[in-house]
Amino acid sequence: MTKLPTPRPGILDIAPYIGGEAKAPGTTRQIRLASNEGALGTNPAVSDALHAYATDPHRYPDGTALALRQALAKLHGLDAERIVCGAGSDELLQMLAKAYAGPGDEVISSQHGFLIYPIAAKAAGATPVEVPAAKTLGADLDAIAARVNAHTRLIFLANPNNPTGTMFSQSELEGLLKKLPSNVLLVLDNAYAEYVDRADYPQGFDLVDRYPNLVVTRTFSKIYALAGLRLGWCYASAPVADVLNRVRGPFNISQAAIACGVAAVEDQAFIQKSAAHNKEWRAWTIAELGKLGLRVLPSQGNFVLVDFRTHGAETVRQALKERGILVRQMNAYGLPDYLRITIGTGDEMREVVDALRTILQQAA
Ligand code: PMP
Repeated sequence: MTKLPTPRPGILDIAPYIGGEAKAPGTTRQIRLASNEGALGTNPAVSDALHAYATDPHRYPDGTALALRQALAKLHGLDAERIVCGAGSDELLQMLAKAYAGPGDEVISSQHGFLIYPIAAKAAGATPVEVPAAKTLGADLDAIAARVNAHTRLIFLANPNNPTGTMFSQSELEGLLKKLPSNVLLVLDNAYAEYVDRADYPQGFDLVDRYPNLVVTRTFSKIYALAGLRLGWCYASAPVADVLNRVRGPFNISQAAIACGVAAVEDQAFIQKSAAHNKEWRAWTIAELGKLGLRVLPSQGNFVLVDFRTHGAETVRQALKERGILVRQMNAYGLPDYLRITIGTGDEMREVVDALRTILQQAA
């Protein structure tokens, strides 16, 4: 028998991440609330930029994405030299894992954390370590600090966390950073930062200056509504940014993504409008689902996690799908009794609540 090339040990233990959502069969209408995308659709300023600026596809993009880094630096008051862009924040998470962890190393994340963290650890050849969540289902920062040992190279933490919507505060984050050995890299994944309305939320940029072992990642896939173009960025200390620039693909960000990213950053009115929309409809959705007798976790993201244990989460998900409404099942996150529902438009949220009312009545 011919011997086939085999991947490194551990690679075949990775369950492929299934992103995006297939169309529900047999329905013309689609209400897509399974992937935490922006509720308000594509920003017209971004569509204009796509047509106006991404005009030379035969040319390579600027491999350093300078215009985008400068726009982000201006908006957030940061040093553009310490911003690194990725094809989605996913790519940055994978680059960080590959650059800082390998065989024999441990990569910590929280139970019910984002699925990419253990995938990135395994792809790097390292061992993912899952620390049990707190009672809130959010990360238990004390337990994480206690789990750090000589093998720990990296910690991935999303704040707010997907899918639980839970958040830790500035002082809780500082408490963790103070306890961490300086050679352990903490990746603070702030993908949902713009949706947070709590005043004690840590943006983390100031802390990067004080703790060079902290990296903050952000995405354009959520409130910036650019998921299809694949764009993310991170803010790091100079040595970490330098490492990322060494492992980064030379032209990892497309010309179109750079042009649209700049246009999106320059239109903060769209971001404010989206944040206000999310705040209003998140509160409305939580209240309305509560009236149906459902337990909904408090959320700082653009989604809510709903407990369907009395009705069967999979039964409810299928019933929604038959009505053309797509929401995310949570089995892979260790939460099989829950469904995660993205906050969409007002009409979409009314439809979801109406559909759930009918489904629950029929089941009663
Ligand atoms: N981090 C978290 C917590 C997420 O939920 C997601 C997307 N679901 C990402 C990162 C990755 O986003 P992207 O690669 O589109 O930037």
